[in-house]
Order: sequence, then C-alpha cells, then structure tokens
Amino acid sequence: MKLLEGKVAIVTGGSRGIGAAIAKHFAEAGADVAFTYLSSEERAKNIEADLKSLGVNAKAYKSNASSYAEAEALVKTVLEDFGKIDVLVNNAGITRDNLMLRMSEEQWDEVIQTNLKSVFNLTKHCIRSMMRARSGSIINMSSVVGVFGNAGQANYAASKAGIFGFTKSIAKEMGSRNVRCNAVAPGFIETDMTEELDEKTKEAFLAGIPMKRLGQASEVADLCLFLASDMSSYVSGQTISVCGALNC
Ligand code: NAP
Repeated sequence: MKLLEGKVAIVTGGSRGIGAAIAKHFAEAGADVAFTYLSSEERAKNIEADLKSLGVNAKAYKSNASSYAEAEALVKTVLEDFGKIDVLVNNAGITRDNLMLRMSEEQWDEVIQTNLKSVFNLTKHCIRSMMRARSGSIINMSSVVGVFGNAGQANYAASKAGIFGFTKSIAKEMGSRNVRCNAVAPGFIETDMTEELDEKTKEAFLAGIPMKRLGQASEVADLCLFLASDMSSYVSGQTISVCGALNC
C-alpha cells in the first residue's frame, strides 16, 4: 500500500515550483490531488494531466488563495468533486521585496494577503470536514526568513513568521480532534521565486549555506509527504526546516 493511498489533498499554488513538486510527490504516493493556480493556466493543465497519468484523480482549480470567498467556493467544490479532504497544503506565496523606506502599502498588503491571510482562508474552510472525520493534516509553507528576518523582505518575513503562531494555535485547538498542523520552513530552494534574485544576492545566500548548495523543490516535497502521511501521526505544532543547515 502506498503512503497516501485513499487520501485526498489540496495544494495551493501547485502550478509551479515547490507546490508542483508536492502535488507530484503526493500523486506518486497514491493521493488524489486537487491543486490551485492563479495565472499559470497552461502549466496547471499539463500538471493535471501528468498527475492523472499516475493513476490518481487530479484536478487544477483557478482560485485566488488570498480571497476568503474564493477559498470558500474552492473547498465546497473540492468536497463535491473528491468527497473529502485529508490533507491541506497552504503553499501559495509571493514576494514583493523592497527596503522599508521604499515599501509601499500595496506591497505590504499584497504579501500579507497572499502568504498569511490565505492560510487562514483555506484552513477555516477545510477544518470543519477534517474535524468531523477526526483526521487531517495541515501543512503551512513558511520560510527560514520568518525565523531570521531579511533586509528588504519585512513584508515577506512578517507573513512567514505569522504562520508559526497560526500553526501552533491550530495544532492546540484541533489536537483533540486528531487534526494535525505543522509548518515547513524552506531555506533557499531553486524555483522561479529565487530565479528572480540578482546574482550578488544569490552568491551571498549560497555562502551562508553550510551544505553549499541550493535546495530542490522535491526535497521540500519529501518532508511534506512525511507530514501528510500517517508516518507523522504524532507530529503536530512543529516547524521543520529544509535548508541545508542554514537554520541551526
Ligand atoms: P513560485 O515558483 O513562485 O510558485 C508560486 C506558486 O504560488 C505558483 O503556483 C503560483 O500560481 C501560486 N500563487 C501565487 N499567488 C497565488 C494566489 N494568490 N492564489 C493561488 N496561488 C497563488 O514559488 P515557490 O518558490 O515554489 O514557493 C512556494 C512557497 O514556498 C511559497 O509560499 C514561498 O514563500 C515558499 N518558500 C519558497 C522558498 C524558495 O526558496 N523558493 C523558500 C522558502 C519558502 P501561478 O503559477 O498561477 O502564478
């Protein structure tokens, strides 16, 4: 029996990078996967086809995770389409970097809405069915930047640090219903998000990583697979880093 056989997962931001790797890992482990995207329609459709070719049920949904109403509609539709939700991965995230002197209110709001409010939106709407089932695993994608902070990323660091408090609170609220909630804190992972950084910033990051290489999206997905599965049945309220020893 595969690790996630019989389970249904929602992954937000599954059209690229870490979210796409999580969706693939979960499908390979036998899960049915509903995943969202915002603008990468073609990529999302290709990933949907790839996942289906692994023999599981899979569907891509265009849904803005920062919208409470869209999250509510998404969860309702996924429950109709898939019957239940065992695993929620709050992965969707963006950066709008700027030094505080130059950061606009819009840059602040956009990052907080997409990275933090989205976690509330999706959790709020998934939690009832998980509580009824007395089973569930919620995985929130944070960042080592939420632990350390980073110049030019006050908005991003605040959104990712907020996830830690949210995660521990949900773990405490939902523990008696056997619903687990954990945070994952990746370091510097090779995706479109880090591709945007200039070479100088990349070199500075690399110099500080004890393992002297960037991480791969699949290495973050491996941890998510563990947290989604019953192998982590007594792990809740934790933050686990995937960062090549950057955060230790
Ligand atoms: P990425 O390659 O830029 O992909 C971001 C994904 O999020 C895309 O699928 C995108 O959809 C989706 N998305 C963005 N805004 C959305 C919204 N409002 N609603 C729904 N989906 C939305 O990013 P990544 O590097 O894989 O990062 C994934 C997560 O890991 C993020 O939360 C990020 O903060 C976190 N993280 C990344 C790193 C890293 O080094 N890469 C390190 C630490 C933490 P579209 O394709 O449709 O735009």
